[in-house]
Amino acid sequence: MAKKPAKSTGIVLDTVRNIGIAAHIDAGKTTLTERVLFYTGASHKIGEVHDGAATMDFMAEERAHGITIGSAVTRCPWNDHLIQIVDTPGHVDFTIEVERAMRVLDGAVIVMDGVRGVEPQTETVWRQASRFEIPRVIFVNKMDRPGADYERCMASLEARLGGVPIPVCVPMADELCVIDLVNQEMITFSGDRGIDVTRSPVPERYQEVLETHRETMLLAAAEADEDLEEAVLEGTHIDPERIWSALRSATIAGRIHPVFGGSALRNWGVQPLLDGVLKVLPNPLERPPAIARRVDNGEEELVEMTQEGELAALAFKVQLWDGRRHVFIRIYRGSLSAGDTIRIAGKDQTERVARMFEVDAGAKRKIDYAAAGQIVLLAGLRKATTGDTILATEGTELLLLEKIDTKEPVLGLAVEPMRSADEGKLLEVFGKICEEDPTVRFEDDKETGQRVLKGMGELHLQIIFERIEREFGLSVRVGKPTVMTRETISGSGKADALVDRVLNVGDKQVPLKARAVAHVAPRGRDQGTQLTVEPTILPAGTSLNAAQMEAVQAGVNDASLAGPAEGAPLQDVLVQLVEIETYGEGSSPQALRIAVSQAVREALVDAGGLVLKPLMRAEVVAPDESLGAVLGDLQSRGASITGQQSDMGTSTVHAECALDKLLGYTTTLRSMTRGRGQFTMEFDRFDAQ
Ligand code: GDP
Ligand code: MG
Repeated sequence: MAKKPAKSTGIVLDTVRNIGIAAHIDAGKTTLTERVLFYTGASHKIGEVHDGAATMDFMAEERAHGITIGSAVTRCPWNDHLIQIVDTPGHVDFTIEVERAMRVLDGAVIVMDGVRGVEPQTETVWRQASRFEIPRVIFVNKMDRPGADYERCMASLEARLGGVPIPVCVPMADELCVIDLVNQEMITFSGDRGIDVTRSPVPERYQEVLETHRETMLLAAAEADEDLEEAVLEGTHIDPERIWSALRSATIAGRIHPVFGGSALRNWGVQPLLDGVLKVLPNPLERPPAIARRVDNGEEELVEMTQEGELAALAFKVQLWDGRRHVFIRIYRGSLSAGDTIRIAGKDQTERVARMFEVDAGAKRKIDYAAAGQIVLLAGLRKATTGDTILATEGTELLLLEKIDTKEPVLGLAVEPMRSADEGKLLEVFGKICEEDPTVRFEDDKETGQRVLKGMGELHLQIIFERIEREFGLSVRVGKPTVMTRETISGSGKADALVDRVLNVGDKQVPLKARAVAHVAPRGRDQGTQLTVEPTILPAGTSLNAAQMEAVQAGVNDASLAGPAEGAPLQDVLVQLVEIETYGEGSSPQALRIAVSQAVREALVDAGGLVLKPLMRAEVVAPDESLGAVLGDLQSRGASITGQQSDMGTSTVHAECALDKLLGYTTTLRSMTRGRGQFTMEFDRFDAQ
């Protein structure tokens, strides 16, 4: 246990669980979270999703759309422990939010729909959790629905995601009870929303269920604890705590994924899941140290999670609250007090934390002090942003916790204010929104002169516009969505450019003279643009100096900003400068830059441009009877089908398709499947179509 620091947070780290709840949309994540809040007393008023009153979905848009968007943190005290839930969104347009939340989690509960099993988003969050090595448990929800099947869910988890599902609590639909395999008890739920939990011996009728599943569970536990293996084989009594401890180490090591089940809506099986979270998911001290890099020499360093030592924290979300800027951070090492001045690693900036809060969904509570393992909200920071490392001002080496990847937006909408007087306000509002969400950009289109908002998908943009109107009271007019493009070249090209002119600077005449010969050739998709500088023609005994090399690079960059076909950013091109000729004094870096950029630009035109559009990986889930219609429609959109499977009357189709062909697809799919189809897509690459 960590030594208590002089000032106390009142929190003992080994009783904390920072967890996320992740799922495919509609699996029941919000409903489950609501039950958790209710049972833990974190929320006295429980809200149902379908009447739009859920506590976790606190943003008004989320209520309207019935989905979860912003990641809110909620504190849930349970059995002398503190479970901190970081709410993660379920829609693919918001995967950046899931990713940012994952980065600061110690464990996750993956919710599955007991009827549908593994769904496209289950797969996405599973992959993300694997990437950050997040230990996880599974909750098989909706076991009250006809066709729900706990075992089949485990099988699909194993087959499709390579998980190692181990049954721990088996839901029994006949009596809305759960068979606890570790304690060998039957658990029933009664009272207001199932708040009263009763444990009793497993009755005869469930003995077989107990025996079969318990054996699987014990064998998995025995793998983590050799002594246990003996006891299991000999069939002697085993202390439940020993089983839990074996399951715990296997779960934390990522070797198994304990499975619970029930129905959040029917108040069935949630408390055993909470007990399980405490039993098998790690506290912050049990996680591997965070990896950091020293800014001065780039060396890797490990940041152990301790409340002593200098502050190291990661800002993982910026959120506007009552119109003010707030920053969510996770503290990895040391502590922080309200009023402290902090430093942003690698940016040479310091600023003062005016106030600090603990967060409970839509409410915040002021605190004075926080330490490692905690997730808190800071007010008063103007510069710190998502992905920044927050450090103590003095005495530390500069450390930078691994940056969170941000994605490039692929869809744009032209916008203008309804009233031209709102122009200034529009800029201000979009500035704030871009700061909150690194997947949003707000840019001027040089050609059309329009302002364009860019984001990850239609729903993403739609929700931003709703916020603009509701939260900022700004009315805007928007155009049709357009996809972002890139360009490459379709063949090779070359050009020879000579710059020879005189620049008038004040009353001085400055000669500009340089020559460059550029060859360009296409590279493989997503290889990036590469520059090579070959033999140069220079006065004897000289070579390009650092300033000149920099100018050459700058010239290539200038030319890469806009491709030859429609002026979109250039990618996947090999640029070779086969000759660079300098002429003494006139060949200033400025002259070189102009000559190089001109040569490259002309070589690109000579090669001929090729437009690349965003290509999406899409997954469509539809009832078997609609499969023909769905496939036909996808084909008419030019999609290529990459995989297809059918399971219990439901088909899943994997396809690659251009984003512009998929605009409005959700609506079409809904009518083709009478509302039963589901669709998710993810950006894959820019490619020629
Ligand atoms: P989320 O998108 O994962 O947050 O899912 P929600 O919690 O919003 O639930 C989606 C829908 O499924 C809502 O209409 C819920 O009432 C319903 N639902 C959630 N849990 C259950 C359950 O255990 N059984 C049944 N039958 N329906 C549920
Ligand atoms: Mg939800």
